[in-house]
Amino acid sequence: MSHSSSLPTAKYEAVIGLEVHAQLLTKSKIFCGDSTEFGMPPNTNISPVSLGHPGVLPVLNKQAVEFAIKMGLATHCQIRPVSLFARKHYFYPDLPKGYQISQFDEPLCYEGWIDIEEDPKVENTATKRIGITRIHMEEDAGKSIHDLDIDTLVDLNRAGVPLIEIVSEPDLRSAQDSVAYLTQIRQILLYLDICDGNMEEGSMRCDANISIRPIGQKEFGTKTEVKNMNSFRNVEKAIEYEIARQIELVEAGGTVVQETRGWDAASQTTKSQRSKEQAHDYRYFPEPDLPPLRVSNNWLASIQAAMPELALDRKHRFVKEFGLPGYDAHVLTQERAVAQFFEDACSHLSEKTNNRTKLVSNWIMTEVMRTLGEKKITIQELNLAPQHVAELVELFATDAISSKIAKEIFPEVLQGKSPKKVVEEKGLAQVSDTSFIVDIVERILAGNPDEVSRYRGGKTNLMGFFVGQALKETKGKANPKVVTQILQERLDG
Ligand code: ADP
Ligand code: MG
Repeated sequence: MSHSSSLPTAKYEAVIGLEVHAQLLTKSKIFCGDSTEFGMPPNTNISPVSLGHPGVLPVLNKQAVEFAIKMGLATHCQIRPVSLFARKHYFYPDLPKGYQISQFDEPLCYEGWIDIEEDPKVENTATKRIGITRIHMEEDAGKSIHDLDIDTLVDLNRAGVPLIEIVSEPDLRSAQDSVAYLTQIRQILLYLDICDGNMEEGSMRCDANISIRPIGQKEFGTKTEVKNMNSFRNVEKAIEYEIARQIELVEAGGTVVQETRGWDAASQTTKSQRSKEQAHDYRYFPEPDLPPLRVSNNWLASIQAAMPELALDRKHRFVKEFGLPGYDAHVLTQERAVAQFFEDACSHLSEKTNNRTKLVSNWIMTEVMRTLGEKKITIQELNLAPQHVAELVELFATDAISSKIAKEIFPEVLQGKSPKKVVEEKGLAQVSDTSFIVDIVERILAGNPDEVSRYRGGKTNLMGFFVGQALKETKGKANPKVVTQILQERLDG
């Protein structure tokens, strides 16, 4: 099916709610001590609990609960003092017990929200509040591997890895909204250090519930649920496709049927997987082997006290505290470690003015981030001390070196050397010594009589040529301001 741009999309509004599953970064599984290490040989992280043997008892992983509560607090949820686990029944080879332990009526977290920003790159951009219906805990299933012609193999290493499911209200109105929401959720998970957020590897997964309605109509339309999108790009494309498909269907006189559809990356379409009639009846019932999950006020308070500052708060603080433009603050707070690096570098500035902090920001956003991109590493893996960035910035801010030299010595600073040391060792300090520069200027003027007379005849943009010659003579060490000043005296005076 193709969707022509002549579709009457303007008559309709999309309504979208996302269900995000996030694998928690605990060392062991949610109900037993099996390791959660990724990439182990199949069926090595297993015990009778992961295998669903009869008679075994689940024991709840406290760390997993703390991680789930952190996510609840970060998304302004209420935390239920007593929540319940339930069995969700379905049959599938990767689910040996025949049920998944999940939460149903009384999830751990409920009634939260996050704000998504219209244009995150500017300060004071419009925001839109997206409700979080609930965040509940559950166990992951194993993995079926279908890539043999004759057999399906089952790897149960993933069975029992702790998950949280974050369910949004149907507050999203476009594919872009949905991606902005998902980006925020992922960033919060990463800031909290509770999930690695890797959609390609499946440690974060997203199902999109999508419906359309004529603009102005209050009631929601019938939704479809789209699964199987393993990247942000695919989420965006699948939602766009599904909205267009529903509009086209309705415009042609059809009706949307409630069904589960899968994103098919090969054809770039969504395809029906199962309709409402084939929908599972999970026959939820309370999990008899687990006591109610109790969260005491003390426990909650201690988790609250250990919450890190989140990206948006940090962005606003960077604008206030360091005088950064909204764009810089946005870029620097995308990753917690980068934001921390910036703050650490600023703490080493001898003069903490907005000028200097902006220079630190510039240096990180250009030289440092380019290096990270080239080497495909994180800032933690980069052998660069924050105080060396402060030192480098102060060297050129005080005209001790030119910014050209600063860039030139950066590779050596990345070897762990102090910029001051490199400058001293190599004799790179910028020369502001007037008599030395006067000598050079005179030599250049004497050597270029034509240019001098053209300059005096009005071609003043030749100034750049003279300054360039002087810098070349001194291998970039002459202070360009002093050079320019002396040239002006000689040429104009
Ligand atoms: P179900 O009972 O089919 O699982 P839920 O009410 O639990 O549906 O909602 C699941 C997800 O679907 C939530 O994220 C919710 O916001 C979203 N949702 C519910 N109704 C609609 C709708 N009409 N259109 C789009 N999304 C919806
Ligand atoms: Mg549901």
